Amino acid sequence: MRYRPRHGRSGRDTLGSKPMSASIDRYVSENEARFLEELKELLRIPSISTLPEHNGDTHRAAEYVADKLRGAGMENVEIIETERHPLVYADWLHAPDKPTVLCYGHFDVQPPDPLELWETPPFEPAERNGNLYARGSADDKGQMYSHIKAIEALRAVQGKPPVNLKFLLEGEEEVGGVSVAEYVAKNPEKLRADVALVSDTEMYAPGMPTLNIGLRGLVYMEIEARGPARDLHSGLYGGAAPNAVFGLVELLSKAKDTAIAALEADGILEAKKGKVRLLRRKELGADWDPKADSRPTVWEGTQHLIRRLEESGEEAAADLLREMGSLAEVARDLAYRLFSICEKKKWADEAISYNGLVVAWPELTRRASSGGKKKAEQQELLP
Ligand SMILES: [Zn+2]
Repeated sequence: MRYRPRHGRSGRDTLGSKPMSASIDRYVSENEARFLEELKELLRIPSISTLPEHNGDTHRAAEYVADKLRGAGMENVEIIETERHPLVYADWLHAPDKPTVLCYGHFDVQPPDPLELWETPPFEPAERNGNLYARGSADDKGQMYSHIKAIEALRAVQGKPPVNLKFLLEGEEEVGGVSVAEYVAKNPEKLRADVALVSDTEMYAPGMPTLNIGLRGLVYMEIEARGPARDLHSGLYGGAAPNAVFGLVELLSKAKDTAIAALEADGILEAKKGKVRLLRRKELGADWDPKADSRPTVWEGTQHLIRRLEESGEEAAADLLREMGSLAEVARDLAYRLFSICEKKKWADEAISYNGLVVAWPELTRRASSGGKKKAEQQELLP
């Protein structure tokens, strides 16, 4: 992602009390070409943590970022060797009485296959339409590198960062991050911080700065289902003897209650004559009430929001948004996911609908919260 400084902005720096960072913007734009070259150098290192033949490259990426941390004025920079790939630690702790921010990122990348889907080679960064294309440019070298350059810029312009800083970067995020988990567990004091800044995430849409306040993890499990030791005659045993494959399918569908009957009861699909299909947005009931729905789904929320927005406008959609409560945020996430899928599949109409919801989102949330207040006030006036 490319940084485009905006000039002539006024306002206040959110980190300190000094007038807003026009001079930081200037520093960044004056050094943009160098920042970009440095990032490209990092992106050229094929630090693929899943492939042992690239272990040397992953180590080289660690050395590269350690070097840049030193260059940005960070102290106590160390490369911590582990069983697999190294960690990089650094700190700067000279802002007494100020909070401590722990910055996390990773310098390893996923393998670049399938190679034929790349327009330009994955480890040869290329600029197109103001974007930088390379493996790791958006996960996570680009974001991680912006942290380091932010500190360099703050130091260059303001003399020092406004807060205490710690960095913990890893080289095996793409293979499960075992070493970082062990290291964090063993070093609570060293890593103590008031806030952790993780930018191994994404923006909802181009040009929409996004603050992710929660991330999910993964749970792995292995399920073994055993059936009869020999073939059983279908006429004699069929239906009565449990079938291992069927058992697994049933188990999976029950895990999230996505069995067909449950989804039919939700009113989002139709199962007739052996055919199952998702209902179209227009086929969903027009008067959906998330509070009356015993099992409101994110899918329904997203579809109904779009329907309200397209048919009745922002105020009506904002009313529904307010009713949806905690389902709302996830509905926006789903809209953005579906937008990406539809865009890739070239389903233009659907892509426009999902995009419409994402774009209208700030306005909808604004209306939802101010509308809520208005209603509360009315209630006070009319007890
Ligand atoms: Zn990542």
